[in-house]
Amino acid sequence: MGEDLQSGGEPEFLGQCSDCGHVYTIQELEDGELRPVGTDGTCTCGNDGFVIHPAE
Ligand SMILES: [Zn+2]
Repeated sequence: MGEDLQSGGEPEFLGQCSDCGHVYTIQELEDGELRPVGTDGTCTCGNDGFVIHPAE
């Protein structure tokens, strides 16, 4: 019991647009693509490239 970071489900973490830097909650798809949750896969700026936000 207790918290387990590998407990399954969709992996979600913070990521940011590689162009404008807007931060999103990101899901990593099966093919490794990073997709911001709650969007159609692109940033509001139109960019579709994202990078994982460094944990602090
Ligand atoms: Zn952007």
